[in-house]
Amino acid sequence: MTDRKNIIDGKAFAEGLRARITEAVATIKLDHALVPGLAVVLVGEDPASQVYVRNKAKQTVACGMQSFEHRLPVETTQQELLDLIDRLNADDAVHGILVQLPLPDHIEEQAVIDAVDPDKDVDGFHVINTGRLATGAAAMVPCTPLGCLMMLQDRLGDLSGLEAVIVGRSNIVGKPMAALLIGANCTVTVAHSRTRNLPDVCRRADILVAAVGRPEMIRGDWIKPGATVIDVGINRVPGAEEGKTRLVGDVAFAEAAAVAGAITPVPGGVGPMTIAVLLRNTVVAACRQAGIAEPTI
Ligand code: NDP
Repeated sequence: MTDRKNIIDGKAFAEGLRARITEAVATIKLDHALVPGLAVVLVGEDPASQVYVRNKAKQTVACGMQSFEHRLPVETTQQELLDLIDRLNADDAVHGILVQLPLPDHIEEQAVIDAVDPDKDVDGFHVINTGRLATGAAAMVPCTPLGCLMMLQDRLGDLSGLEAVIVGRSNIVGKPMAALLIGANCTVTVAHSRTRNLPDVCRRADILVAAVGRPEMIRGDWIKPGATVIDVGINRVPGAEEGKTRLVGDVAFAEAAAVAGAITPVPGGVGPMTIAVLLRNTVVAACRQAGIAEPTI
């Protein structure tokens, strides 16, 4: 049986976070005459990316911040994009820069990520921020893993000494998640496609983070009773009706929810948090650039 109490509601958590951001932005405005600004750059017309960019802009403004949208045609050259990033790096009204990925094939993603001023890199993908995070310095932290950490701390409080297993070692989720959980004093194992006896490794976890991209790969009997399960996976699978699809995570939800102490659903778990954390990162970036104390959000 699924007990509703053990479902972590990402939508409600994101709403709470946005409310705290709105409050922090109002205080910063009043005390320091500073309005945090987020520039979002989209190249091309990918429909999913257009929706993300629209939502990011809407939520930025709703929290009282300034939004700068740059929609460039698909034939934009890499140099034109790099020139825009240079201008945004130099613009004092812009505290955060997000280049929506994926970029068209003729643009080298790494060159674009490297061009963003690390202090304005609200996605946390710049190698300087990766290094800062790994060494425990003040970094811009990738939004999805930071959101997962916030949800875990909200649910469990102090994570010290807990056994954490992360399945997936990507640069945007698995590795930064590992750095964050080490920073929170967990004992961390990072599993991947070459890991032996993955079910046994998962069964050790007090905290299990799944970031694989394989629908419902992690089964209920891989989960230690009472564990907290964070499912980052977003997978589209055929739906009940012909021609329709539905979203599922990397964890077999019903089976896992019957064993777990707490679990994020898909959709409605980790997904809704990501944009809210992006806004939080923008506020933090603005405060650091202005040399004022960062609010606790
Ligand atoms: P990647 O494809 O970059 O990485 C997947 C990882 O899973 C790799 O480390 C890979 O191992 C590992 N893996 C693949 N197959 C297996 C297996 N059979 N057993 C164990 N490990 C395996 O994915 P991302 O990290 O970018 O994303 C992961 C998932 O999270 C996706 O579903 C994505 O859509 C979702 N996502 C959701 C976000 C959100 O906001 N909710 C944001 C970002 C991602 P190896 O390194 O050995 O190949």
